[in-house]
Amino acid sequence: MTGRLHGVVAMDGPSGTGKSTVSRRLAAACGAAYLDTGAMYRALTLAVLRTGLDGAAPDAGSVAVAAADDLESVTDPSAPAILLAGEDVEAEIRGPEVTAAVSAVSAVPEVRTALVQRQRDLIAKAVASHGGIVVEGRDIGSVVVPDAPLKVYLTASEEIRAARRASQDRKAGRGGDTAAVLAAVRRRDRLDSTRKTSPSHAAADALVLDTDELSVDDVLAELLRLVRDRGLVT
Ligand code: C5P
Repeated sequence: MTGRLHGVVAMDGPSGTGKSTVSRRLAAACGAAYLDTGAMYRALTLAVLRTGLDGAAPDAGSVAVAAADDLESVTDPSAPAILLAGEDVEAEIRGPEVTAAVSAVSAVPEVRTALVQRQRDLIAKAVASHGGIVVEGRDIGSVVVPDAPLKVYLTASEEIRAARRASQDRKAGRGGDTAAVLAAVRRRDRLDSTRKTSPSHAAADALVLDTDELSVDDVLAELLRLVRDRGLVT
């Protein structure tokens, strides 16, 4: 182990940048907790879809806000999980139905208010018990933890991100046609970056890391260098 992380590392960026993999590995390497905030938005979207509504339905926001009380996030980086009313929904939230609907649900201001509050509570608990946490999402450095001592925004070209996503989908047995994935990536980027409440963007003080030419090991090495240089691990 590299030493223990103190405080919060905010990891933001669009899908297919390797954010989840490097965030988990960074947390594991530094004895820290790990929170995937995208999984929280996905689980609420699943709750909406299970009522038969689509993500953009007028009632979707209130269904999602009510379901937020039933969410439980497990922040152990070696076995992260998300439970909805006690049910492990990790596999189901990665499927195409949730992926297609999540941007609409996560654009509802009341949904964001409910989840940002829960995320701040989880982060405070993890810092009290572990000393540090790596949190990944779209608005962590800009909204959820604006005073995080390290903010990283991962980027990569659309094509590379779509190719990575398609390969993940194939490994998980979920199809994985690269052209279809590229269209879905473009659509989700557009919706997430143009919504009115907390649009996805790099915080002004985030370090932007382009991962087009970097492997997961390269990115992890860079993050470990950053946490050491900033005196965040001891
Ligand atoms: O990270 P992931 O791709 O699983 O996120 C799923 C969706 O959840 C994103 O496309 C975005 O709509 C939403 N999200 C968000 N804010 C976050 C994390 C995710 O709006 N902090």
